[in-house]
Amino acid sequence: MMPHHHAGDDLLIAYATGTLDEPVALVVATHLALCPLCRNEVVRLEELGGVLFDEQPDEALNESSFDALMARLDAPPTETATPSSCGAAAADSGDPRVPRPLRDYLGCHFEQLDWKSFGGLEEASLLPEAKGFRTRLMRIKSGTAMPAHTHKGSELTLVLAGGFSDDEGHYLRGDLAEAGPSVDHQPIADPGEDCICLAVTDAPLRLTGPLGRLLNPFLRI
Ligand SMILES: [Zn+2]
Repeated sequence: MMPHHHAGDDLLIAYATGTLDEPVALVVATHLALCPLCRNEVVRLEELGGVLFDEQPDEALNESSFDALMARLDAPPTETATPSSCGAAAADSGDPRVPRPLRDYLGCHFEQLDWKSFGGLEEASLLPEAKGFRTRLMRIKSGTAMPAHTHKGSELTLVLAGGFSDDEGHYLRGDLAEAGPSVDHQPIADPGEDCICLAVTDAPLRLTGPLGRLLNPFLRI
């Protein structure tokens, strides 16, 4: 099913020009793996960039852009990427819910990640070496409401399984939600299936509910 919520133009342009920080690039690449529309747009932007900057011969551009994009999506993580806490021995990473670019970062099966539980929410941290970002997989129990919160920076959330709703819309597999400081929301996981998301934030969230205001000094979610 084609996603309904896509990466914004600024994200796609930055991805196409290779200027995104690694955690954000990982979210965008994983969305691209699930979204032919944005994938085609990145190819178009890369071709446009090639024409504008005249960096490559025409024949190389026309023939190779899409192949190059697909190769990048399939490529193993760069040397600076540290697979999560699974350990090198756990090689079974074939969960079909996890698209290829992300799967390579996990380094093990989804279920073998070091999940930490917070009530109806479990999370596993990724890319700990990416300073200034918090990158994590989240598994929200079906029907569970997350704490209401806003953001000091930006939050990108990509749904991998199940779905969630907030004031901005309803998000299913492949959908990418972008939230900034102006968004104060309380995502609620759909009933029937746990919601699994890849989320990247570049600043701590700020809880806004009555309980959240009390807990803010003590929590980092
Ligand atoms: Zn898209």
